Amino acid sequence: MRDLIGYGENPPIVTWPGGAKVAVSLVLNYEEGAESSIEAGDARDEDVSIFGGWSADPTRRSLMKESFFEYGSRVGIWRYLGMLREYNVPATVMACGAALERNPEAARAIVRDGHEICAHGYKWRGTVGMTPAEERAEIRASLSAIEATTGVRPVGWYVREGITENTREILAEEGFLYDSNSYSDDLPYHVAAGPNSHLVVPYSGDTNDARFWGNGSLGTAEDFFTVLKDSLDCLLIEGETVPKMMSVGLHLRIGGRPSVSHGVRRFLEYALAKDGVWFATREEIARWWIEHPPVQQSVENTTAERAAAFEGVA
Ligand SMILES: [Zn+2]
Repeated sequence: MRDLIGYGENPPIVTWPGGAKVAVSLVLNYEEGAESSIEAGDARDEDVSIFGGWSADPTRRSLMKESFFEYGSRVGIWRYLGMLREYNVPATVMACGAALERNPEAARAIVRDGHEICAHGYKWRGTVGMTPAEERAEIRASLSAIEATTGVRPVGWYVREGITENTREILAEEGFLYDSNSYSDDLPYHVAAGPNSHLVVPYSGDTNDARFWGNGSLGTAEDFFTVLKDSLDCLLIEGETVPKMMSVGLHLRIGGRPSVSHGVRRFLEYALAKDGVWFATREEIARWWIEHPPVQQSVENTTAERAAAFEGVA
């Protein structure tokens, strides 16, 4: 059953570390080499038309089209790992198992630098339409490949093109801490998953470089910086009384280009100069949410009472 109500008018008040008003989760999507590819044994190549009116016959290899993806694993990953080291901020890398297998050096560097790896499928594909057995096999293949290349077992799941009615029950059984296949909130929330309770750490499509794809709505690094800055500014105001979280979605072959990544650099400088911003991995956010249950507001609370409740727990 869909939940169209959620927290409603009175979201719970979480006390983030240091009394932060906004938890910011940077996400690097690492998919390059996991896209459908004849070279890798798939029947068809990835449809690249979503990347901007450029079509290539999906039944034949196009080395130039493949190179479009390769930019992410050859250049984009290192650009972002360098930038994150420079500013000393952690990220969550949503990585496909098959992608890390093609670039073990990058896989090791992600873990070496202290970033979280969230499982992003084995191949870069969705699980909608899969049977529960097929879905479980995809989840396990993803975990095995990531563990083999990094030595770390992911605790988070985010898969392309959505999940099924069975996904969360399988994830809970397989020992996952959270998934991010939701765009429905500014805060984590629990859902029933069979006999278990499962945590959802929602993601976002607006503060996401996917908006540069295809007939995208963003054009310049300045556009992207403005989108990220406005989102943070809004949540910092609201976070005075009800702390929130914010996701930034990046793709190495898109956001990893200089023209986009420069907007991300500007955002990091802007956010790091603000009080009340906690850069965290999604795993850190999930663990904090579970270990420090937020104060549930009641609908009768006045604004002043809510502010007082926040002071009390800060
Ligand atoms: Zn992705």
